[in-house]
Parts: sequence; structure tokens; C-alpha cells
Amino acid sequence: LAKKSGRGRVLRFEPEMEEELHSRLALIGRIAEAQARGQFSLVYQPQIRLRDDAVVGVEALLRWRCPDGSWIRPDAFIPAAEDAGQIVSLGEWVLREACQRQVAWRRGGVAPLRMAVNVSVRQIRDGDFPAVAERALRETGAHPAEIELEITESHAMEDSKVLSTAETLRAMGFRIAIDDFGTGYSSLARLRQLPASLLKIDRAFVRGMDHATDSRSIASMIVKMGHELGLDVLAEGVETLEEEAVLRELECDEVQGFLHSKPLPPAELETWLCNRTAAA
Ligand code: C2E
Ligand code: MG
Ligand code: MG
Ligand code: MG
Repeated sequence: LAKKSGRGRVLRFEPEMEEELHSRLALIGRIAEAQARGQFSLVYQPQIRLRDDAVVGVEALLRWRCPDGSWIRPDAFIPAAEDAGQIVSLGEWVLREACQRQVAWRRGGVAPLRMAVNVSVRQIRDGDFPAVAERALRETGAHPAEIELEITESHAMEDSKVLSTAETLRAMGFRIAIDDFGTGYSSLARLRQLPASLLKIDRAFVRGMDHATDSRSIASMIVKMGHELGLDVLAEGVETLEEEAVLRELECDEVQGFLHSKPLPPAELETWLCNRTAAA
């Protein structure tokens, strides 16, 4: 086993890499088992519109609870699930679960919330994602206009199947968001072609933007560019009032972050929403 790197340079397969491979393989086996045993759940983080401080949406985020009570963070298993292709079935479960939750909230009289769901490019490239999405709508009764599919900005966005699938999803009535914007390498031309409604500024540019002038100018450019393309812009990972104040100045439309709330299980999110309405 050898890995190519750079211009035909061949890297030796070092012992640490072998260890990593073994732990990855073990992880992949555990993901399948965890899915069968119902160890995955979703938590929801509110998204706030700055203009009127209204909660306009939530983002569904995946959590894995092990039988010993510990939690595994998505960053620790999603890349492996993507490599192994398991993200296709896991992602299908996520979409159905989020749609079900959305319908339950709408029926339960919770103010209409846009439900954002992360979709891995791998789900689009490998599977028939529009068919998966169609099935999720049919089985849950969710309205696609209330579901926002988040696609991470990356080279993969240049893939023509990703573009055509995004168009199909848009035609089905879904909203599309571009996630982690500013960290990928997508071309402006491609960005203009994507039928998106929302651009999410990666939290790397939000952290400490009240004193880091470079982050602030990058965020400012992203907001201007998003607006120029007719998109709303949301800043991720907002932790302080100072960061939020800068975002207001930059005319960013929406924020999401620990300042308002961490991602919460459904019942806790309902309580959070009630307390917020009561306080207003
Ligand atoms: P993401 O989609 O960019 O989600 C935002 C991440 O930022 C979440 O991490 C959230 O908990 C975290 N976050 C939110 N506010 C703050 C803040 O104020 N400060 C800091 N430091 N972090 C904040 P999480 O839940 O660990 O998810 C990490 C990534 O895993 C997600 O990034 C997304 O790319 C991926 N992911 C999560 N759930 C899913 C899923 O269902 N499907 C797929 N394909 N990917 C998912
Ligand atoms: Mg996201
Ligand atoms: Mg992401
Ligand atoms: Mg993000």
C-alpha cells in the first residue's frame, strides 16, 4: 500500500498510517452497527435574523451516542462515513428524521421554522439523491420550501452532477444553502450558477472578527458578494455580542452560534423558543 502525493512522489506506508487505517476500519464497522441500533440522533441549532431578531430556522446536526454514554462528534466520524460511502444511508436517515421533526413542529403549533439539513457531496455523487429526497417528503409530509439543503463549498461543487442535482432539488421546491463558505475553492462562476438561497460564512472568519481586521474584511467581502448574487448571508459560529455587532454593521442577514444557543435536542429547543418568546 502506498499513497501518491504531489508530483508522482510516493509516500511510504508508515506504521502510524497503518494504525490510522485500522482505527478507521473499526470506526466504519461501528457506524453501521450504531445505525442499526439507533444510536444516532439530531440536535437543532437556532438561526436568527438580525433585522428583527426573529428565529427563522434551525440547523439539524448529527450526534452519535455510544452505549457507554459517551458522545462522538461528527467531525470524528463523518469523514470516515464519507470515505466508506456510509454517509449515503446515514444521510438518508438524517433527512427523513429532520423532515419528520419539521412536520411535528408545524403540527404542534411551533412557529414555522426553516429546517436546514447537511448533505454530503458524496450523497449527491454516489446515489440518486433527488429520489431519496422525494421519498423523504412523501413519507413524512414535509414541505420542501421549509427544508434547506446545505452543501459545503468545495471543489466537488464543480462536479456537473452536483450542479444538475442542485437544479433538480431547487425545481422540487427545496432551498439550497452553501455551507462553510470561504474555506473551499469554488469558482465565482460556479457559485453564480448554483441555485442557492443562502450563503453561510464559515466560522473561521467570524471568530474574533471584532479585533481581527483580516477576518472582518473577508466577511465583509462575502456579505457584499452574496448580496450581489441575490443571496442572503448567514454567519456561523457567532459567540460574542461584539462579533454580532460587527456583523450587523456589515449588513449580514442572519447569525447562528453559541451566543444564542448551542445545538439542542428537540424538547430543549422547544423550551428555548418558549422562553425567548416570553422574554420578548
Ligand atoms: P457545519 O454544518 O458547518 O455545522 C456547524 C458546526 O459548528 C456544528 O458542529 C456546530 O455545533 C458548530 N457550532 C455552532 N455554533 C458554534 C459556535 O458558536 N462556536 C463553535 N466553536 N462552534 C459552533 P458539529 O455539530 O460538531 O458538526 C460539525 C460538522 O459535521 C458540520 O459542520 C457538518 O459539516 C458535519 N455534519 C453534522 N451533521 C451532519 C449531517 O447530518 N450530515 C452531514 N453530511 N454532515 C454533518
Ligand atoms: Mg451546516
Ligand atoms: Mg459543513
Ligand atoms: Mg458550516
